[in-house]
Amino acid sequence: MTYGELYRLGKDTLEKAGVPEAELDARLLLEWVCGTDRHDLLVHGDAERSAGEQAAYERLIAARGERIPLQHLTGVQAFMGLEFAVDGHVLVPRQDTEVLVEEALRNLHDGMRILDMCTGSGCILISLLHYSNDCQGVGADISPDALDAAKRNAERLLGASACAWIQDGGDAPEGMGAEASQGPEDRQGRISFLESDLFERVEGKFDLIVCNPPYIPSGEIPGLMPEVREHEPLSALDGGEDGLFFYRRIVEECRPHLCGGGMLFLEIGYDQGAAVSGLLEENGFLEVAVGKDYAGLDRVVCGTLGFG
Ligand code: GLN
Repeated sequence: MTYGELYRLGKDTLEKAGVPEAELDARLLLEWVCGTDRHDLLVHGDAERSAGEQAAYERLIAARGERIPLQHLTGVQAFMGLEFAVDGHVLVPRQDTEVLVEEALRNLHDGMRILDMCTGSGCILISLLHYSNDCQGVGADISPDALDAAKRNAERLLGASACAWIQDGGDAPEGMGAEASQGPEDRQGRISFLESDLFERVEGKFDLIVCNPPYIPSGEIPGLMPEVREHEPLSALDGGEDGLFFYRRIVEECRPHLCGGGMLFLEIGYDQGAAVSGLLEENGFLEVAVGKDYAGLDRVVCGTLGFG
């Protein structure tokens, strides 16, 4: 079959299966299998593809038709211009969350310490460290499987010498040990991960705490798309009866772990701006503000802890 024929077969199959954005996913999976890009459909649509490529594509299209998320089939998701490995143990990084990272970056200065609560794939913390100088970070999560994924992402994206567990444990890959450290990108041991139920095992103080907690009200979970409901970890989605369970705990429990003048950044659902900013104000945060995503919806709440 030609490239164009394969694409149309994929698109039709996904449309029949009711997959949203069938055209896009058919094209992306074809590009994934063939190692091509978006121009190939226009320029090389008539080119014959191998039987092996066709078989691989048909397998992926069938799986996507079963509503397995695209990112679980390719194993990756782009976020902040970096490629994160994902699996069923972590939330697939969302573009909306880039707004949280950008907001935090505006307030991040050289040498700061960052805590990423509910780190999941590590996408928030790893992006913050990648785009800043000389900062250090801890990613906390209750799920050991999520932490394994986050560690693999940190190793690949920040380099082994940036990873504290490799520096401490000595299992660095050949030539990537402490002596291979080069400049700030590789600053030794500047990222670490901690298995912790929220702040239970967190020690010390941070200049910035960022968090994208589970925030979907429990009653809304059954109405989510099958890709999310059946394939993403429930523990990364379910925010309790009113969706605010984790915000209450985080806002109350973070205080001993924030420096005076330190900032808290929380991702929120579109209708949680008033409730979450209210929680920050009740708990002594100043300059509480709500930021919007690219759709113009409330997406981030931030505030500064007062001194004293
Ligand atoms: N911090 C991760 C993300 O933003 C995971 C968030 C979560 O599991 N709720 O993608």
